Order: sequence, then C-alpha cells, then structure tokens
Amino acid sequence: MLNVLFVTSEAYPFSKSGGLGDVLGALPKSFPDDVKTQVILPYYSTIPEELRQKIKPLKHFQMWMSDTLHYCGLLTAEHEGVTFYFIDNEAFFKRPSLYGYYDDGERFSFFCRAVLDSLPLLDFTPDIVHCNDWQTAAVAYLLKHQYRRAFPNTKVVFTIHNIRYQGVYGFHDISPYLHLGFLPSDLEFYGKINLMKGALYAADLITTVSPTYAAELKDPYYGEGLDGVIRHLDQQVVGILNGIDESIYDSKTDPALFVPYDNPEKKKVENKKALQEYFDLPVRGDVPMVSMITRLVEQKGLDLVSNVIHEILQLDLQLVILGTGDAIYENLFRSIAYNYPDKMVTIIDFDDNLSRKIYAASDFFLMPSKFEPCGLSQMIAMRYGAVPIVRETGGLKDTVTYFNPKTKKGNGFSFATYNAHDMLFTIQHAVSLYHNSPAAYKKLVKNAYNTHFDWKQSADIYLSYYNKLME
Ligand code: ADP
Repeated sequence: MLNVLFVTSEAYPFSKSGGLGDVLGALPKSFPDDVKTQVILPYYSTIPEELRQKIKPLKHFQMWMSDTLHYCGLLTAEHEGVTFYFIDNEAFFKRPSLYGYYDDGERFSFFCRAVLDSLPLLDFTPDIVHCNDWQTAAVAYLLKHQYRRAFPNTKVVFTIHNIRYQGVYGFHDISPYLHLGFLPSDLEFYGKINLMKGALYAADLITTVSPTYAAELKDPYYGEGLDGVIRHLDQQVVGILNGIDESIYDSKTDPALFVPYDNPEKKKVENKKALQEYFDLPVRGDVPMVSMITRLVEQKGLDLVSNVIHEILQLDLQLVILGTGDAIYENLFRSIAYNYPDKMVTIIDFDDNLSRKIYAASDFFLMPSKFEPCGLSQMIAMRYGAVPIVRETGGLKDTVTYFNPKTKKGNGFSFATYNAHDMLFTIQHAVSLYHNSPAAYKKLVKNAYNTHFDWKQSADIYLSYYNKLME
C-alpha cells in the first residue's frame, strides 16, 4: 500500500479560491484502492458549517516559533474515501479570506512547520509527501533539510500550479518560523527568501499541471524569474494535465441549474432564457451568450478584453462576467456593464452556485489568458456545452483545438498571439459561426460536450511517477 500525503492550502469542498482547490478536492480520491491518500490543509474559519460538523479534534500541541509558543490543533475528517487533516490556529486562519494578508508568509510558514511536526502524531508514515504551490513549499524544503533523519525514506513531490506566486519574503519575516540562522543559496532570491525556489531544489520530482506549461516554464516570458532555476535543475519538470471532477460538474444532475440537461442542444436555451430573466437582460434564445468566470487579475487576459470591449459589445451577443479580484478590473467591468444594460452583466462576487448557472446558460466561454498553467474553467465550460474561446497557452493549448467546419473536428476557438485584435477577430468568427452556420455550431457544441477530462487518467500518470520514486 502506497501512502501519499497531499499538502495544500485549499481543497474543495472545505476551501477553494480557484483551480488549486478543485485539484486537491478531486485528485486524492481518484487513485486506485491500493494507494492510501490523505490531505492536510489549514482549518480556516470559512469552512462551511455542515462540513465543520464532520471534522473532529485529534490532537493538539505547541510549537516555539518567532520567540512565541504557538498553539497548533490537529483535526480530522473522512470525506469520500480520503482522510483530511486540518491545522488549527485561530490567529492565522480565522480570517474572512484564504489569502491576501500582510502576514501570509508567516501564516503559511507556520502551517508548513505545523504539518511537519504533526507527522509523528499520525498513524502512518507517508511514502510520498506531495506539496502544492508556494504555501506548502517550506514543507518540501524543511523535510529535506531539517526532518530528513526522521523521515529518511519519504519522497517529496512538488507541483507548480502557478509559478507567478512564489512566496518571496524578507529573511527576518519568516526565518524564525523556518528556524534559519542564515539565508541558504537554495532559498535565496535577490536577497530575500523564495519558498518556491527552495522547494524546486529540494523536491525529488517537480511536476506542473500541463505539458505545454512545463515547456513554457523554461522561458523567461513565463518563468517569472525562476526559469533559470528550472533550466538548470537536472531533472525535468513533468507536465501532467489536471482533470475535473465530472460528478460535480454534470449538467444532468447539477442542482444549481435552472434546467438540468443531458443534451445541450435541447435544454441549454432554457437555461439561457432563465438566466437572462434573472439578470434582467433581454430574453432571447437566439443571441449568443459569452461568459467569463474568473479571478479578475492580469493573468486572465483582462487587458485584452478591456481594450476591445466596445467592439465586442457591438456584436450581436450578451456578455456575462462573474469574478472578483483587482479593483481596476472590478470597477471597469462594472461601469461598462452599467453603460450597456441590454448587453452586459458584471457580477463582482465569488459564487459557485451562480457560476454553474452561467456555465450552463452560455454558448461561449472566453478565456484569453496571458498564461494559464492548466485552467479548469474551460474544461468545466465544455462539460456544460459552452464552447471555449481561448489563447493558445499552457493547458488551454493542451485542451482546446480549433474547430474546422470542413472536417467537423475541434472543440473550440483559439488565437496564438497575446493581442486584443486577434482575440476580437476570434470572437467575431465564433459569433458568426453561431449566427450563420447553425449546423456547424451544433456539431461544435457536441464536440465540446463530448470532451472529457477525467481525473483517473491523470491519477494513473501521477501514480507511475510515485512508483518510480519508490523504486
Ligand atoms: P485559477 O486556478 O487560475 O483561478 P482555473 O480555471 O484553474 O483558474 O480555476 C478556476 C476555478 O474557480 C473554476 O472552478 C471556476 O469556475 C472557479 N471560479 C473562478 N472565479 C469564480 C467566481 N467568481 N465565482 C465562482 N467560481 C469561480
């Protein structure tokens, strides 16, 4: 029996701010029975009440860090065959949001130290500790440098879900949590601590979430200052495409939908009309609805959208944007929607239920990302029969193929260069296909709807790498 412990800062349904939460909610339960998977994450006060009731205290202990004795509670819950462990400390995790605080470096350094100090209290020794993104990077680093003797045979896998966020902090801010007396070169980054860099050097295996992103990471345009480290590491970065939990995103059974459907051709339009009514948009089955459900941050290509938003809104379409993020985009899209009440709706919120209604109602899903490690939203959109319009980068390139009306192959539309007019042209082309070639459009929707991104396939690939590490 292989024992794998996933370390993460979020896992659906307990906590989720984006794709990372989806991945850690789905991947651990996708392995065959002879792999025992556990997940450890912070005990946020935002965990929904009904799930809180399942979570039971296990142990608690105290840790000296930063000249302070810190309380650390360890809790546990079984969920869909996976054991979850939670690290509790109200000073760090009783907050309205998961991230975005001045002391995030301390919060997650504490979390990592607490994870490592919890290991001896658990009733198993992990064969693999699988860390995810910068919030857990210190586990990878410390396991190698300070806990090696306690866990000599444990292998470390580090997955880059997004290299933009690396956990870079001043030495004095987090070194007391990491018990560092000096700044080692593996962690050093322009005089500061870079937690992700430390994890990259410490890991026995580095993976990322799509083959294209794995290649892109070596390029300075995408590598965010760590491209050199990745180029110079002996080992390759392995790209393993994420999946989505198809039992959650199922248009046949999703309780969030106005009208569940097993054939987008028939019932999708009813969802669209219901959503138009809900949003106070003109109720028209024949107008294509284009949507974006996204963090409103630069990565997602929002400068392209804002550059040509008026041209987009000249087309016969309706645009729906659901997201939260940078104030500049929140305000911009809110104000444009205010000026086009018949064509555009902007909702500044994080709303899982509403997001599904939008996926189900949309004809197109726009995702013109500047970079996209994997991207789950385009996969989810396809599960609801919404055709993706994407830029060819990272996982978007690996999951969306341009629809060719002659061969009838392809599941979406894409453009290569990060350029607003290339995006506009692609949207025009998509909308024109919708209006002028209904048979081709119907086939395209079918292709998108029949595209599957099952986790089992990805889990098998992870497992083959775990097994190689254990040899
Ligand atoms: P990222 O992880 O970079 O945010 P992904 O496409 O990998 O992007 O995953 C985004 C996930 O978060 C999807 O499940 C998407 O539906 C969801 N999501 C993003 N913004 C919102 C929002 N405002 N409300 C509800 N769900 C959202």
